[in-house]
Amino acid sequence: PKYVYEFTEGNKDLKDLLGGKGANLAEMTNLGLPVPPGFTITTEACRHYLEHGATPPGLDAEIEEKLTALEAKMGKRLGQPDDPLLVSVRSGARFSMPGMMETVLNIGLNDESVRGLAAQSGNERFAWDSYRRLVQMFGRTVLDIDGELFEDAIDEAKARKGVTSDLDLDADDLAGLVETFRSIVHEATGSEFPTDPREQMRRAIEAVFQSWNAPRAILYRRQERIPGDLGTAVNVCSMVFGNLGMDSGTGVAFTRDPATGQQGVYGDYLQNAQGEDVVAGIRNTVPLAELERIDPGSYAELLTIMEKLETHYRDLCDIEFTIERGKLWMLQTRVGKRTAAAAFRIANQLVDQGLITLDEAVNRVTGDQLAQLMFPRFDERAGRDLLGRGMNASPGAAVGRAVFDSYTAIKWSRSGEDVILCRRETNPDDLEGMIAARGILTSRGGKTSHAAVVARGMGKTCVCGAEELDVDTKNRRMVAPGGRVVEEGDVISIDGTTGEVFLGEVPVVASPVVRYFEGEIDPASDEADELVRAVHRFMQYADAARRMNVRANADTPEDAARARRMGAQGVGLCRTEHMFLGDRRTLVERLILADTDKEREEALAALLPLQREDFVGIFAAMDGLPVTVRLLDPPLHEFLPDITELSVRVAVAEARGEAHEGDLRLLQAVHRLHEQNPMLGLRGVRLGLVVPGLFTMQVRAIAQAAAERVKQGGRPRPEIMIPLVGTVQELEIIRDEAVRAVREVAEDNGVELDFPIGTMIELPRAALTAGQIAESAEFFSFGTNDLTQTVWGFSRDDVEASFFSNYLEKGVFGVSPFETLDTDGVGRLVRTAAEEGRATRPGLKLGVCGEHGGDPASVHFFHEAGLDYVSCSPFRVPVARLEAGRAAA
Ligand code: PEP
Ligand code: MG
Repeated sequence: PKYVYEFTEGNKDLKDLLGGKGANLAEMTNLGLPVPPGFTITTEACRHYLEHGATPPGLDAEIEEKLTALEAKMGKRLGQPDDPLLVSVRSGARFSMPGMMETVLNIGLNDESVRGLAAQSGNERFAWDSYRRLVQMFGRTVLDIDGELFEDAIDEAKARKGVTSDLDLDADDLAGLVETFRSIVHEATGSEFPTDPREQMRRAIEAVFQSWNAPRAILYRRQERIPGDLGTAVNVCSMVFGNLGMDSGTGVAFTRDPATGQQGVYGDYLQNAQGEDVVAGIRNTVPLAELERIDPGSYAELLTIMEKLETHYRDLCDIEFTIERGKLWMLQTRVGKRTAAAAFRIANQLVDQGLITLDEAVNRVTGDQLAQLMFPRFDERAGRDLLGRGMNASPGAAVGRAVFDSYTAIKWSRSGEDVILCRRETNPDDLEGMIAARGILTSRGGKTSHAAVVARGMGKTCVCGAEELDVDTKNRRMVAPGGRVVEEGDVISIDGTTGEVFLGEVPVVASPVVRYFEGEIDPASDEADELVRAVHRFMQYADAARRMNVRANADTPEDAARARRMGAQGVGLCRTEHMFLGDRRTLVERLILADTDKEREEALAALLPLQREDFVGIFAAMDGLPVTVRLLDPPLHEFLPDITELSVRVAVAEARGEAHEGDLRLLQAVHRLHEQNPMLGLRGVRLGLVVPGLFTMQVRAIAQAAAERVKQGGRPRPEIMIPLVGTVQELEIIRDEAVRAVREVAEDNGVELDFPIGTMIELPRAALTAGQIAESAEFFSFGTNDLTQTVWGFSRDDVEASFFSNYLEKGVFGVSPFETLDTDGVGRLVRTAAEEGRATRPGLKLGVCGEHGGDPASVHFFHEAGLDYVSCSPFRVPVARLEAGRAAA
């Protein structure tokens, strides 16, 4: 195979082979843009190297051939003593892995060529500084020498001279540093720094290959779910210098504002500098627009190029460039990252400009971005006082009093205060405090830290790793830059979408996107801004494109109505247990405690009308649309008092001789129903089989509510769903009872009632015997929360808070399987059950009602698996609509 491509030979579609950077350098070269000539060594060569520990046969010869061609083009040889060609050797994988892999600049310098460079540039300091950088980078990257050793030597040189800035070191000082660096190399490796330019290049290339498997790169890939076997390409590029004087410089540019999507001139420029200087923040950059004054010619050329790139890539591009003595060079471009709002606006603008189709536009925005746009936000018009910044770990805007421990968070929130829990980092002991808080702020830890993972799981606003804020839990305070102090009780505002932390209360407003979905903003009116119009346009397109329906999980008429406004096409899961809380708990208690049939029937009879009213409201809100009502699912003891508390209360009462018969009975029942593993115990269909009359009461309530709606002229479409079924026998028994109950109610009311009766698939056994279960089930709804729990053996209530952050950090998985469906394991059961269910009953309706129904990646999987609908919380309905559309488009 061909292992080396000149920039003139590649193009942007060869990213697998040439990596992102190499493919785009080739594309720019072919567009006739000023790219310093060079060549790219393929990922295939890297893969061979990693597999065999040696470069593939023929690679050296190919590199030599391309290098010779490069030398001919440039009119000078690599490291030529009187006028050296210098090259950079840079990694560039298929997927960007910022800062993970290696780069070596200024290859070709040695004791002779450094003088040639000095003479040619007329700048001796520059030449020695370039040489110094080479030895340092080569030492660190290729020879694996601790970078501190070099940094320390620089510090010593500065101290000796009594200066603080690198810029104060002159040519002689830098020549001295080169000497020192070379002895560091000799001491650390036992050999001399290689002065042969071709050896420098060869070894740098191999070092880049090897850096693919550096521990931090491996970890990064695991977390970002980038396959580990892709390898990296290597770009060898002739050097241009931004540090040759004030007529030189380096910068970054965006063809649009990546924050808002606005067209214009965005970026930064730094005179007399190289790329690393910008990153290191040694000197302050100036806004790109200033380049117009500094170097009008280069500025005009840059703007022309930016326009060309945007039209060519048909998207926002970001660019790295260097100006060498008034000559502009393009060093990199790629389709740039952007905020959620910018993504929608840019895609919309590009459609208007005729650069992309609506179909492409919809595929350039994601459900995750839409979800971000739906969070409440800080009012942009309000003043704000920035305290510091961290990572945007979990989106949203939260305001509250700063507290520094969980206990206080709980105590204050119970008395009605909004609090922000501020910790250095959180651990499982903080869980209750996190639940009580409006938002969470930590000064340590990244996006997979405990705080971040748990907050995202709870949908709670979180800023993490705000290192500039010194959280002092002992003294209950936090110190911000400039010595500003936040004491316990001071109000702060945190923005989980940007990572910003503000002092005081910043007013929060509802997102205009939500107001649009709620029907409060007419997309055709003036009130609709560009963002709302873009969202509206893309939603319409997605709705027309999608095959799957989207329903909502809703337990109240209000939620159902809201879901419908958000575009839900029915209720996919109405959890009836939520109707048994509050005042009704005592009725449930009576039911559980009933000793005789009569007592039980009385309790059921008292519950029935209440249930019926709930259903009437939901059926009305979803008139004409299906409503899947799930019969009672949770373990009964959830409706009873806590066993410990009750035991103590009864013991105290007994000691006083005041114990009531009722208390004793209650305690007995609580003991009887107590389970070590309630999630695997008496719940779901098992309850229906064990507690006589319970499910029948619920079915009667559903049927009576439907009859009432029919009489009111409505079109109720209930579907009855049995949870936690493991075998068809369970389902058959309940089904017979249910069919009978519906028939009776229909006859009593003189109306026709006919509801589908189906089941949830929540247990591995149900999935594996779906062919049998489908004989009795008219539909399946995958309860992927329980299915994930039972397939992995993970307690859904515990593991995310306890050890998932550890798993995520170690890269066991890149995202919690409770958040995004585990397609390999759980997904396989979903496919099996779907296939076998439909083999038994062609046209069997299939849906999903676990949390995954609103997760973008999972929605795509469900589309592929042939499901008919997904059901998710009302707020996620637009996200699911968009993703179902993208999956089908
Ligand atoms: C499920 O298990 O996925 C489900 C929807 O049911 P619940 O979350 O109520 O157990
Ligand atoms: Mg369940």
